[in-house]
Amino acid sequence: MEPIGIEEPAAAAPGRRPEALSLRDPLTRIPRLGPARAARLAREGIRTVGDFLLSLPFRYEDRRRFGTVATLTAGQAATLLVRLRGVRSARMRRGTLRIESVADDGTGAVRVVWHNRYPSFGEKAQSGKALVLYGTPVVTPRGELRLENPETEFFETGEEADPLHSGRIVGVYHRVAGIAPRTWRVLVRAALDNLSPRPAAASLGADELLRALQGAHFPASAQEAEASRLLLAGEELLVLAAAIERKRARLRERSGIVLRADTALREAARRALRFRLTDAQKRALREIAADLSSGRAMARLLQGDVGSGKTVVAGLAFLLAARNGVQGALMAPTEILAEQHAASLAMLLEKAGVRLGLLTGRARGRSRKALLDALASGEVDLLVGTHALIETPVKFRRLGLIVVDEQHRFGVAHRARLFRKADSPHVLVMTATPIPRSLAWAIYGELDVSLLDEKPPGRSAVVTRVREENARERVYRFAAERVRAGERVYVVVPAITEGPREVAATRETAERIAAAAPGVAIGTLHGRMPPEERSRALADFAAGRIGILVATTVVEVGVDVPEATFMVVENAEVFGLAQLHQLRGRVGRSSRPSWCALIVGERAGEESRSRLSILENTSDGLLIAEKDLETRGPGDLLGSRQSGLPAMRVADPVRDLGRLGEARREVALRLGRGEEIVSDLFGYP
Ligand code: ADP
Ligand code: MG
Repeated sequence: MEPIGIEEPAAAAPGRRPEALSLRDPLTRIPRLGPARAARLAREGIRTVGDFLLSLPFRYEDRRRFGTVATLTAGQAATLLVRLRGVRSARMRRGTLRIESVADDGTGAVRVVWHNRYPSFGEKAQSGKALVLYGTPVVTPRGELRLENPETEFFETGEEADPLHSGRIVGVYHRVAGIAPRTWRVLVRAALDNLSPRPAAASLGADELLRALQGAHFPASAQEAEASRLLLAGEELLVLAAAIERKRARLRERSGIVLRADTALREAARRALRFRLTDAQKRALREIAADLSSGRAMARLLQGDVGSGKTVVAGLAFLLAARNGVQGALMAPTEILAEQHAASLAMLLEKAGVRLGLLTGRARGRSRKALLDALASGEVDLLVGTHALIETPVKFRRLGLIVVDEQHRFGVAHRARLFRKADSPHVLVMTATPIPRSLAWAIYGELDVSLLDEKPPGRSAVVTRVREENARERVYRFAAERVRAGERVYVVVPAITEGPREVAATRETAERIAAAAPGVAIGTLHGRMPPEERSRALADFAAGRIGILVATTVVEVGVDVPEATFMVVENAEVFGLAQLHQLRGRVGRSSRPSWCALIVGERAGEESRSRLSILENTSDGLLIAEKDLETRGPGDLLGSRQSGLPAMRVADPVRDLGRLGEARREVALRLGRGEEIVSDLFGYP
């Protein structure tokens, strides 16, 4: 730990006042910060004066009212205006001091101890000195109250004004790079006092920006702190929106192969389909066809709830490409999904003459080589596989359309690489999890959006019930009934970490079900199984050789078995709502009634039960996603830290993101007028 305080400054050079600080200047220009701290901060990503000032307090303490020693209570923080007497100091390791004293404010006296202080602190802490202390008294073993390491502010004569650490609302900072909150305050003050009066800001006037920074670090009231933060968040969102708009504009400059839809194609599409497209599917296809024939490369997001028929839309786009003599590629996040897509696309497209290939890690040796040769010579029109498809040197004769099934694994970096490909293919991104609009804007803002907001007719809603563990036997017996009626049942078990646990979890649950529902064929499915076994289990389930499939969340996406009518989720409380909604999308894939039982563990709290009950009452994926975002934050909804959400310094991804839409409209307007959007604070452009 570094010694508390910064009382060992490099003395400022006398004479000329140094030039004012720009928010873009390196940290080292902040008076008294010094190269060692700057190096440590740089390792935390804090490199400029602006970065430093954006490390806002994570909370504030109201130290405005002075307490009295007489009313001090153990465990309760108080601010005291006192005078020291009986100061004693002892030398500690590394030349720092332990200082002990009695603090007296006329109402009483309390013992104070400071540890690990610089000698310069000792010089100030002399008997007779007036100072302000802020701290929480503790009780010593002997039953006395004592202040340990209180925040301390010495007053030079006539210097009572603007104390940094007490007598006011005080910001508390995270201890980044080993720098104590108290030191942060001093350094922030030094930076603010030396700032240039004319910073460039995107959404605020220069004065407003400076006031907002001042108000966020040293607010005069709680309201000022909040208002200042909101202003800074607004600035950040505008800068973010401008970055998204630029990316969008750049994507739109790419030229693309012109692919046209003619009457023959429409006829072929009609013949390929066993059903009528929904209006939403028709709309999406019109939008896609318009992109493909525009001469610019498509960059589009196809968003729709589970079962809204995205795969069909993608399939028809591939048909259009094939008819134009251009190859397509479909990338899925997992092999299971790639196989599922290949199977359903083959059903849709092979009659229409589209030649389809499936490339997974399983294809080896001669068959792999044959497939790659066929691809290179143009004998395969559509290649389905995992992301390895376009990352390894797989040679296409003329690749023109890439569909990425991102599901809920948002691969932003990955997407950027796709768009940079020299041959600028048309790209369609599919996501299954409905994403609240504000989030979609932040994550997919550079893409045009087609929304499938309608389901194929004849689908009944999945009747969903939250069940306690003591109802489990009954749930399993109901599962057996469904199987005897010729239907299929999924039982999903959580396996937080992949590995042996997941194997054990599926096996144990399968045994439990076997005991409750004898005579029903039960299978298991988890990520640890070799691909052949997994495919076999799914095929057996689809064909009815397995009636109940006990699985981990590997069945979450893509698996399409229309006879499945009942889904049981064990320990449902560990899942996010959006994920559960996604899971239950595996049933209700036909006109038969279907059900979902969410079993909550005994130890689950009341709030999990009420959270889960949202699923009993709605099947609106977007609403569910919004609830998830509110209650569990974006990390949960998006699956991981690299969720594609841009890093935000001040704006809150839940609370403030709703304002991004507004910011985007403003940005579009201003860029359209030829204005520049420049921000010294958020470093853009
Ligand atoms: P998603 O990928 O959006 O979850 P899919 O494209 O897999 O949805 O479609 C789900 C199921 O609905 C598939 O069995 C598909 O054949 C069927 N389907 C898609 N569109 C329609 C439609 N317009 N009418 C009837 N069934 C459809
Ligand atoms: Mg699908």
